[in-house]
This record gives sequence, C-alpha cells and structure tokens, in this order.
Amino acid sequence: MGIYKWYASVIKEDERILCNFLWSGEPESRKLVLWLGISCVNHFRNGGINLRRLNEINQSLMMKLTWNFLNPKDEWSEFIQVKFIAKSGYFSMITKGSLIWEGVRGAIGDVRAYSGWVIGDGASIDLWRDSWCSPISLKDWINNDFIPWKDLHAKVSCIIVEVRWSIPYNLHLVFHRLGVDIYNIKINKNKTDRWVWQPDLVGKFSVKGAFESIRNKGQPACWYIFLFKKAIRPRLSRWDWRLRHGKIPSDDNDQTKGIAMASRCGLCNNSSETIQHLFWKCGFSIGEIWGGTNFLWQARNNCIFEEQINTLANEKRKWIKQIHDTAVLYSGFMFNNQSDLGILHCLGVAVQPCNHPMVKSFFWELPQKGEIKINIYGAARGNPGKGGIGCIFRDSDGKVFGTLSKGLGLVTNYMAKCEAIIHGVKYAALFGWLIAWNESDSTTAVEAFKSDNIP
Ligand SMILES: [Zn+2]
Repeated sequence: MGIYKWYASVIKEDERILCNFLWSGEPESRKLVLWLGISCVNHFRNGGINLRRLNEINQSLMMKLTWNFLNPKDEWSEFIQVKFIAKSGYFSMITKGSLIWEGVRGAIGDVRAYSGWVIGDGASIDLWRDSWCSPISLKDWINNDFIPWKDLHAKVSCIIVEVRWSIPYNLHLVFHRLGVDIYNIKINKNKTDRWVWQPDLVGKFSVKGAFESIRNKGQPACWYIFLFKKAIRPRLSRWDWRLRHGKIPSDDNDQTKGIAMASRCGLCNNSSETIQHLFWKCGFSIGEIWGGTNFLWQARNNCIFEEQINTLANEKRKWIKQIHDTAVLYSGFMFNNQSDLGILHCLGVAVQPCNHPMVKSFFWELPQKGEIKINIYGAARGNPGKGGIGCIFRDSDGKVFGTLSKGLGLVTNYMAKCEAIIHGVKYAALFGWLIAWNESDSTTAVEAFKSDNIP
C-alpha cells in the first residue's frame, strides 16, 4: 500500500469486506438490518468510529514517496527524477514500465498544495519550475510551449542581490499579472532554502500529517464527546451512535426499505412507531423516564417480542442500576459541589472523593532598572479558533507604560502565543525600549523562539 497506487475497485472490495466483518463477524455476509450505510469511516468528531478510508491511507503513503521524489535525498529519488522528469521540466506522462510512477505522479498535486519554500539564499529553488512564490510554478502559470524551457535553468538566487529582491522588468510584469507581491516574500539571511510541509509547525512531512490534510472531514458532530467516554460501556456507546445516525430498525426505517407493515408504538399504543416518537415523544417515556436511551429500545423489544408488560417502576429500577454501574467508572469526574451532591444523593450514588485544588505560591518580579518587562498572553477559542493577544509593559517601579490588545482572526492556540511574543517585542522596539524582558506562560512558544524554530 505504501508503494503502489491501489485500484479503486480493489479498495471498494476491501472496504466492503471490512464493513461486513465489523457488523456481522463474517467477511462475506452483510447484516442488512444493522448496517444501514452509516459513515463509520470518519473521525469520532465527524460522527464516525475512527476507521480510516483505505484510498486516503493509500494516497498519504503515496504522498510520502512523492515528497522524497521532489526533495531527492537518496539514490532512489535521484534515479526516479532522472527517469521521469524531462529536460524541459515536464513530468513523464507514461509509466515506462514502472508500477510506482503512476502513484507518485498522482500525488504531486496534493503534495504541492500543502508545501512551500522558505527562501534562504535561493540557490536550491528553480525559478521557473518550483512553486516558491505562488501556489503554482511560474512555468505552469505562463503555460507556453513555445518558450524553450529546457534551456531555462535559472535559480531564485539569480534575482537576489545582497538579501534583497532584484527583479528584471519583464519578470516584474509576470509577478504583477500573477498578483504576487514579491517584496513581501521574506529572504532569510545566511540560511539555505527549506522545502516545508505547511500544515506542520516546524515544516516536517509525516504520513499522519498528510492523511489529516487530505482526509474528507465531513460535518462535525457535537455529540461525539458524550458518546465515547471510558465510563460508558462500548455496547451502549455503539447503540447510541446508531441512534444518533437514525439507524435503528424501528418500523419507520423498515418501511423505507420497502417492507410493507402496519405500525404501532409498542409502549403507548397511541401512535405509529417512528424514531422521533419512540425516543422523544412517546407518552410512556417522556416526563417519567429519559428519552433517547437503550432502555427504551429494550422495553419496546420486550413488549413486542416477549409480550412482557412494561411498568415504569421496573424501568426505573433498571435505570438506577445502570447509573450506579456507570458512577463507579466515573470516579475522578465528580466536582462534589452542592448541586452535584444534591443530584447524586437523589440517585443514591455513593459520593467519591475528588481531587482537591492545591494552593501554590508564585512570585512576580519587577524588571531591573532601565529594563522593560512585557507580560504576554495569547489564546484562541477552539484550536484553531478566533484568537487574540494581550501585552502589558511595565518598568522597574511597576509603572505601566502601555498595554496592547489585538484580535488575530482564525489561529491555533500555539500561533496565538507566538504572535503575542512577536507583537510584544515589536511594540517595545517601536517605542525605543531596547532592553525588554518577555514573560509568557507557554513553554512551547518560548522554546520555539529559543531554538529559532519560529513558525
Ligand atoms: Zn408511544
């Protein structure tokens, strides 16, 4: 799977076998009643059960080969480059008897979409064929076969003079038409060029990162955090997961599959049986016991298939037992505040000790004479989410010289913290406070600045 591009028909067949095995335990038999086409190949937070799509795994492994192919560091990559890249810079459209090339070529688009260059001296970047200033290369953008591309081998270093851009007039026109503000692209003095994977904070490619970038994310499901907790038994989680997707073999679902049947709610006998009615509107459940639970379904099955008579007292007893079972597993989650304790007492759940808050002492020091201290904070609501930063500048007497707050739009938490440090220092320099002492609560951000690995 890590070497060849798999055929769509093979992947489809494999996924069919996987799903059959998951639902029925047999690779060939399909459990129609239960398996109703729920998208389980998705992350928990998108309403799946964290199975991965085989074509996405295959593509991310292909991307690894392509990444090595585009940045040759070993003999294999150099050999493939020589074999499949023409002198004009075009990639070969035929496989030349290689089973690998088809997969590598198919992943070039995806790799390029998520990678880019950090420009140093410009000596390793092909001016025309690498996409260093825009999402596509200049050659692809100009797209003119009459230009003798095979003779053009200029590097980006040709247009850098003393760490500044020195652009010929004609090239200037090309940038202008492409909408690229070349003077905004930073040149890193005394550094070599780096090909980086953009979604990663330090620019390192990984198959996991590639998979995360290309996978079909689908709609986020808000209920997933309540469903797959450790304290909830897997059987109940799985059942509730199906209910969330509306895939319970109730009468209305059977009817949609073409089974003609008269429908009546087995619990209240007052309405036809739909998922909506059974779990959320039925007179038997609402007001007395909670809707949307597995007990309701068991009660319905006992009533229809075993001809048992359900009484609320019986159902409540089962409920309380279930709550007690879950409460044992939930240790450590209790806050033991007054309202919690009141509810727990009513349900007869034993109170468990919770972690007590610990009081720690901290010191905040003033800066030395002539120094400025900048206290910095950056955060995002969600990761990524809307973020902002705040800085406060103080002198050696504790006098506040200034404050700064700023919104950042959509950022990750880590980026917000890094941005906070950058803005703090920038403003200190702007006002001529040359000796400044930064204080931030994020060790990862501080480490990034210390090791010169600023994203
Ligand atoms: Zn009912």
